[in-house]
Amino acid sequence: MRNVYLDNNATTQVAPEVVEAMMPFLTEFWGNPSSMHWFGGQVARHVEEARARVAALFNVSPSEIVFTGCGTESDNAAIRGAADALGPQARIVTTRVEHPAVLAPCRRLKEMGYAVTELGVDASGQLDLAALRKELRNGPCVVSVMWANNETGVVFPMEEIAAMVKRAGGLLHTDAVQAAGKLPLDLSTIPVDMLSFSGHKLHAPKGVGGLFIRRQTKWTPWLLGGHQENGRRAGTENVPYIVALGVACEQARLHMAEDARRMAALRDKLEQGLLASCPDARVNGDPVHRLPNTSNISFQYIEGEAILYHLSDMGVAASSGSACTSGSLEPSHVIRAMGVPFTAAHGSIRFSLSRYTTDEDIGHVLKNMPPIVEKLRALSPFVG
Ligand code: PLP
Repeated sequence: MRNVYLDNNATTQVAPEVVEAMMPFLTEFWGNPSSMHWFGGQVARHVEEARARVAALFNVSPSEIVFTGCGTESDNAAIRGAADALGPQARIVTTRVEHPAVLAPCRRLKEMGYAVTELGVDASGQLDLAALRKELRNGPCVVSVMWANNETGVVFPMEEIAAMVKRAGGLLHTDAVQAAGKLPLDLSTIPVDMLSFSGHKLHAPKGVGGLFIRRQTKWTPWLLGGHQENGRRAGTENVPYIVALGVACEQARLHMAEDARRMAALRDKLEQGLLASCPDARVNGDPVHRLPNTSNISFQYIEGEAILYHLSDMGVAASSGSACTSGSLEPSHVIRAMGVPFTAAHGSIRFSLSRYTTDEDIGHVLKNMPPIVEKLRALSPFVG
């Protein structure tokens, strides 16, 4: 049976050229980059080379890049570090559709006494900019708004958001874990102060990420100890994975336009094919402003988990945003925030492609999905 991986927003295959580049740093060049001797110095040079490659993806200075352990760490460090630096009078503004890596630290700050606002989205998953503008009138704030949503692929208008936050004198962090490597993110023209990204979403291994911190941003380091990363993140650097991240970012930068064009064409073929062959299906999220690799489709009147189970039987890996809480399957907080009707919210499936997705992969899903939907609908209590 054919195996088809369409869960690339969960994690991606490590690119072969990335594996090749990192291996010598596990076998041969295993020194500590902080060591003064020749063995350490040799390794430190490669860490700096990787930093320059990462910086080039965002068009920023290498000195503004801090390596971290994952996207979650970057989000936590950005939000907590900015809140610490501005003090408890600062307000925190975020959105209801953020990843838990942003929502959880914001909610912790709320427990600690900070005023925290979570902005809503409309039915297409787009941010309520008027509500953001209103919040910005209320004094100094840390704003954390994602660049692209992991479940729907919806892209927020970051240029407009950044201009609004900067005009109001706020500090802006963006979780770009899903956008990095898929969209051109030119931080020389878009004035975000901090940006989080993660290796395993762009064909580097799990366990490495990064945080862009613009020079002179008010921010306090979170992980304290040694002087690594210029005092911004203590702990001996994960050299092989940092080298891997550098190569993955370079590959993303060089091939982004072509990869995006290919993925969007395959994504559209998948979406149009499924909408044509499966009755009562609908796409969730802004159809225009979204990532080229993501499609979130609701198959009404059936459970997403049941669809996933049958798809998995046919060799297809996809995802649903549902969380199993207290024995019942709750639609994801993102789908709920968009107000997707109950009968559609429960049957939402995320297909996420990568540069390795092929036309044959899409053909396999298009062939296997209609009978699955038909079979589950026949069992559905919601279908007359
Ligand atoms: N932010 C977003 C939007 C994500 O999609 C994810 C992972 O799914 C994260 C943050 C967390 O990244 P990591 O898995 O590297 O901790």
